[in-house]
Amino acid sequence: MSGAVLIVSGPSGAGKSTIIRSASCCIGEFYFSISTTTREPREGEQEGVDYYFVDKGSFEKEIEAGGFLEYALVHGNYYGTALEPVRRALKDGKLVIFDIDVQGHRIARKSLGRIVTSIFITPPTLSELKRRLESRASDDKETIRRRIESAEREIQDIGKYDFVIVNDELEKAVDSFVSIAKAARMKMGEDEIEEFVRKWRGR
Ligand code: 5GP
Repeated sequence: MSGAVLIVSGPSGAGKSTIIRSASCCIGEFYFSISTTTREPREGEQEGVDYYFVDKGSFEKEIEAGGFLEYALVHGNYYGTALEPVRRALKDGKLVIFDIDVQGHRIARKSLGRIVTSIFITPPTLSELKRRLESRASDDKETIRRRIESAEREIQDIGKYDFVIVNDELEKAVDSFVSIAKAARMKMGEDEIEEFVRKWRGR
């Protein structure tokens, strides 16, 4: 494997997708990992673009078959990263970007080791997060309440991330993301380091 991994986490409403989309022009070739989920598609979401939408039975079968690099229960639904496309992208030397929750971050970091760079993206305060979620017309009160509850839990993991981006001004947040993604790409895995040292010694 010669690629690298950039894990992006943070509460819904932090602006993760907007930042990744805005930065995508400027970080070179990357593979955005499309997760599999058992939650219902939201309006406008497309199969194979936003997620692979499956039922609970198929998801659990895939768990048993060892098909996930990581998976977690988030807001009562399964979300997971399929192993195979990630393995392929890494083999092709790509930067693989994951938008996953804090549980996924813990697992992926353990299994992928030193090729991982991670970013936690958050609005400046909890009250700003509430304001942003409430101004999105798409979500009902219960959904907003659950998201805020998860955010309060997830913020406790912030210290486990390499970087924190406070999304106060979008342009600044995108600039920070671009810098981190460029650096993330340069990480070498253990095999790569071994190979480098062997060649460096001329053997
Ligand atoms: P949403 O339903 O708003 O698209 O996503 C809810 C949460 O699930 C977000 O925090 C998102 O980062 C997380 N998530 C999305 N895909 C995955 C995945 O494959 N694995 C894990 N662990 N979390 C995911």
